[in-house]
Amino acid sequence: MSPRAAALAAFAAAFLPTASLADAQAQPPLAAIGAPLAADAPPASVLRPVTLRAAFRVPRTDGTALYIGTPWYVRDLVVTVVGPAGRRQTIAASADLPGHLLGLRLPDDAWGADRIELTATTVSSAAPPYLLPTEALAAIGWRTWWYALFCGVFAALAVALAVAARALRSSALAWYAAATAGQAALLIPWLGIVRPPPEVSQPLHALLQALVLVSLAACTLTYLRGAAPERLVTRGLWALTALNGVAVAGGDVMQDLWPLPDAVSPAILVALYASYVALGAVALRRRVAGAPYFLAGTALAALGALTAVLAPGSAALAAAPSIGNAAAALLLPFALLVQLRGAARERGRPALVAHLDGLTGIANRATLDDALARGWNRAARARSPFAAVLIDIDHFRSYNETYGHHAGDDVLRRIAGSVSPHAARGADLAGRYGGEEFLLLLPDTDLSGAQLIAGRVRDAVAGLEIAHGGVAAKRLSVSIGVASVVPEAHGDGGEVMRRASSALYIAKTMGRNRVVADEPLLAAAAV
Ligand code: GH3
Ligand code: MG
Ligand code: MG
Repeated sequence: MSPRAAALAAFAAAFLPTASLADAQAQPPLAAIGAPLAADAPPASVLRPVTLRAAFRVPRTDGTALYIGTPWYVRDLVVTVVGPAGRRQTIAASADLPGHLLGLRLPDDAWGADRIELTATTVSSAAPPYLLPTEALAAIGWRTWWYALFCGVFAALAVALAVAARALRSSALAWYAAATAGQAALLIPWLGIVRPPPEVSQPLHALLQALVLVSLAACTLTYLRGAAPERLVTRGLWALTALNGVAVAGGDVMQDLWPLPDAVSPAILVALYASYVALGAVALRRRVAGAPYFLAGTALAALGALTAVLAPGSAALAAAPSIGNAAAALLLPFALLVQLRGAARERGRPALVAHLDGLTGIANRATLDDALARGWNRAARARSPFAAVLIDIDHFRSYNETYGHHAGDDVLRRIAGSVSPHAARGADLAGRYGGEEFLLLLPDTDLSGAQLIAGRVRDAVAGLEIAHGGVAAKRLSVSIGVASVVPEAHGDGGEVMRRASSALYIAKTMGRNRVVADEPLLAAAAV
């Protein structure tokens, strides 16, 4: 070595420690296990995906493998393990991890590498890939099962609600079915089974979220129609719904480039749910059917949303919004069903009242006439006998005079109670035909069968042992006329009634408290 070369070498050597110190300072940071990696990425959006880069080292973890897992919108993940010496090992991610997570397992000796380099494409720099230990990965696998369960429950509920909406002709239920189907669809990305590109998944997510919000508002306003909420309330609900829709859609598509601060979206969701709770309170005060369920459901959803604002990072409360949503998903349709059932009962009541006799609660004259005409025509078609049993209380005028109208009314009720059990078959009908006359209509019954039943009615009334001081027997009794006719032609059943009436007249003239059948011989004898 020449003196000149030696001098040059000494000069270079003087710089060496400085250079190696700079090297040491440039050494990449040690990544924290379970935390997102410190990554560089320019602000991104669905419309402008970017490349994300990170360089790091990993600590030594004896016995636990380390993984890199990605939020769902990170793609094309590649990791290169660099050093020591000339080592350069490149690993591409796959979706084979538990929960179909896109990621990869680091080599067991990755802790010894000089650095690990990572590149990926992303539409958001907010959540870079994570460095995960095995247990965290197992937890993600379990979380997927939970999401699958919620998704299944929502899907089944949506189908059940759609069927119920059709059967009950309820637009509110139909809206709720749509909202529930949307909830189920929103959970699909979390199952990791499909990974559509962000340009597809993000607008789709925004659309589904809008569907859920709009359906919820439509269903609620339909549910509250009876409570007639003020115009201002209705408009406020739609305004908050629109605001939430815009916030979700903007965040979904614009990601980092969306100017709204992170805390604003959850806050306006809470405001929306709070307005639902206020509506529930109004419904409760105005006694809307099912209001307690509506209020409970919306309150739980509001509380769930509130936890996301108050404790955004809390692992313990992470499931709260989902639980709140699920509770609302069950309770709100329940409130609707309670309301629909009440409405059906209201609709049924006047109809029922119109068919019944006010004093005795059994069928009234109109119902009897209707059943008589229908039964008669059916019997005419079937060529089968149709029987009428006409019952009249004996000396009832004098009963009223002796004991008063009030007591008379009581007797009418008691006798109705004794007559109606004898309309035993499905097509039979017992009713109050007039003042103190009762009628039993017995399709498909011949004269002897009808006589038998009439005899039982007479006995049942006798069994009541109602005192009647104005008659010789000192007991209240009934006279009964029975007729059974095989109709020759269609008509209103007047013929069988005429015959039963004649038989009743004969029973009265023969001394009352008896059953008389419409037989030509007797009819002739009575003339
Ligand atoms: P008969 O043995 O011939 O039948 O004698 P009756 O006194 O029962 O004669 P009728 O059948 O004509 O009697 C009708 C009476 O029934 C008139 C009225 O005093 C009584 N009545 C009719 N409707 C009612 C009612 O709604 N309440 C009460 N308390 N009495 C009624
Ligand atoms: Mg009478
Ligand atoms: Mg009478």
